[in-house]
Amino acid sequence: MTIWIFVLGAMMGSAANALIDRLPRGEKWGAGRSHCDKCGRKLEWYDLIPVVSWLALRGRCRYCHSPIPYRNLVVEVLMGVGFLLIFNQFSNFQIFQTLVLMGIFWVTTIIAVMDWETKLVSEAMVVVWGLLILIFNFQFSIFNQLLINNFQNNVLGLLTGLFLIGGLWAVSRGKAMGFGDVEIAAVAGWWLGWPAIGVAIWIAFVSGAAAGLVKIVLGKAKMKSEIPFGPFLVFGTWAAFFWGERLLKIFNF
Ligand SMILES: [Zn+2]
Repeated sequence: MTIWIFVLGAMMGSAANALIDRLPRGEKWGAGRSHCDKCGRKLEWYDLIPVVSWLALRGRCRYCHSPIPYRNLVVEVLMGVGFLLIFNQFSNFQIFQTLVLMGIFWVTTIIAVMDWETKLVSEAMVVVWGLLILIFNFQFSIFNQLLINNFQNNVLGLLTGLFLIGGLWAVSRGKAMGFGDVEIAAVAGWWLGWPAIGVAIWIAFVSGAAAGLVKIVLGKAKMKSEIPFGPFLVFGTWAAFFWGERLLKIFNF
């Protein structure tokens, strides 16, 4: 069973890759078959098997041998692992809830990777995320467990994300944060509620700072060069969602 959950995730990762490529260019998703960016050759089904094709071709186009980005492989594997984590941790959920969670994982991965590559946050994807959360919370309120408690809690979380990240955005006049980060933090706060959103933002800052340091040490970035914050917010959100209660205990919030 688990292998098929991974395969489903990897296939969704493959679709996410197409969207990450096409959204910033304003191309329609699903318009036309997949083709190589360099030589334009239409790709056959056996060139498009998630994870397997990339590895079999050693990351190069079958026809013109130009490199296929590592990101394609990373997103496919990440999505497979994410789907597995969701499936294992929340197997007490109904199947529909689990699917909504997987949808949220899909959308947030697209937001994070696109922000990482282009420094643009897709507002369309943030809206889809918000809609999925509405569905998820509605179902969840029936079960009422884990971190997500009630409506007030969601509003409190939203306001926390909005004022913390929005405050930084306003004070720095958009230099420390982009407005897309404010949107992500608000939606994440709405989803996680208080205090989990505090954990998420804290993890985002720590992991973002760590990544910045690594980049500087490797000589790939100067002190002032920008690193998008969105991917770290998304990472913090999922870390808080999966392990929030344990983290809260460790840090005595
Ligand atoms: Zn090619």
